[in-house]
Amino acid sequence: MEMNVVCFSCNESHGAQIRTVSPSTKTTFGYVFQRCAVAGKEARPMNEETRGDISIEEQVPLAPYTTFHIGGAAEYFTSVENIEKLRKAVQWAKAKKFPVTVLGGGSNVFVADAGVRGLVIHNHITGREIVKEGDAVLLTIGAGEVFDDIVALAVSRGWWGLENLSCIPGSVGATPIQNIGAYGVEVAERIVFVDAYDKETDTSVRLTGDACLFGYRDSLFKHAEGKRYIVTRVTYRLSKTPAPVLHYRDLAAWNEAHKTNELPTLTEIRTAVCAIRSRKFPDWNVLGTAGSFFKNPTISDAHFSALLERFPELPGYKTPEGVKVALGWILDRVLNVRGYRSGTVGTYEGQALVVVNYGDATSAELETFARDIAQKIFDATEIVVEWEVTKLS
Ligand SMILES: Cc1cc2nc3c(=O)[nH]c(=O)nc-3n(C[C@H](O)[C@H](O)[C@H](O)COP(=O)(O)OP(=O)(O)OC[C@H]3O[C@@H](n4cnc5c(N)ncnc54)[C@H](O)[C@@H]3O)c2cc1C
Repeated sequence: MEMNVVCFSCNESHGAQIRTVSPSTKTTFGYVFQRCAVAGKEARPMNEETRGDISIEEQVPLAPYTTFHIGGAAEYFTSVENIEKLRKAVQWAKAKKFPVTVLGGGSNVFVADAGVRGLVIHNHITGREIVKEGDAVLLTIGAGEVFDDIVALAVSRGWWGLENLSCIPGSVGATPIQNIGAYGVEVAERIVFVDAYDKETDTSVRLTGDACLFGYRDSLFKHAEGKRYIVTRVTYRLSKTPAPVLHYRDLAAWNEAHKTNELPTLTEIRTAVCAIRSRKFPDWNVLGTAGSFFKNPTISDAHFSALLERFPELPGYKTPEGVKVALGWILDRVLNVRGYRSGTVGTYEGQALVVVNYGDATSAELETFARDIAQKIFDATEIVVEWEVTKLS
């Protein structure tokens, strides 16, 4: 598929080739354009400013760093591989009174057409520490590591806990931000500590899972009081004892169909999860997307009962706050907008919650589309929906 994206390495557009040729591609999102293989060299971007051992570039196009492939440039941009460089980058921005934006794999954001003001820090902090304590395995992982590599590692070593989160794109550092979840597991259940750099005090801090105030696609880090933190490492607690979590719809159906006297293995669960996901989500190398665009809303019991009278099959899950409603079902069965397109933006035919950039969509077009869908939902159900995806500007 032809995509007109600009290579950050040499600032030229290489069309479709840019997606397939980079030799530094570790995974297929975010980190791909370290070296411009079309130009065949590691070209230095224009207007680079070097501060000690960090280099700050100007006007770096951000669309290639995101899975939505939308939007303008970072006013200033740097990549950091360790906490010391992160500190220096933040201090540089502070001295200039620039806002700081952190980017991981770019799989839960879209960039404004006008770009992002201030300094964008692309997080590449690596590092893996493994500590075994009886049945428990504690993994402390650098925030710039690819999360799915860690899931694959855990599955290959026989450590239980992350397998249901297989094949979710993005970095380790972003996993606590929206408390990623899938197929009946939220990462909060596995997080023991989050290490972070506190921009305000210029110190490193360790937050316990409780201090992170995790909720459904929510955490301290998404709110004003948590914006001071940049996640540098995450510690997950896994277990050597088999503990499959198979109650969630599609996975339960898979388990039923494949049931034997044996418990499914970690590898079988990971393979099943990735196969289910490949039917629900587009390949983000081919179609721009950030996965589910909206959160599943939680509504009051009374509101849910009223909706049930009109839509008796509407799926809802009781939570302490009310009833969490399956928004995909409403989009699909009430509004009939699965696969609906408006210009270059649309919902995905495999899952209506997933919004897709079918070509060279702008952020303005995406926002108009999202507002239009939100209005349709409200008109039909009186539910006010929230975006799961973050706009960077
Ligand atoms: C096809 C597809 C399927 C998906 N499926 C799921 C799913 O099943 N479940 C789910 O929960 N999500 C899903 N997502 C969303 C996304 O993969 C996750 O939210 C992921 O954790 C984002 O990681 P990232 O590194 O790409 O974050 P980014 O998109 O780079 O950043 C997301 C937000 O976190 C902030 N941030 C990133 N890193 C840090 C850091 N180190 N410190 C502080 N702030 C930081 C950013 O500023 C931004 O606000 C999906 C996305 C796609 C494209």
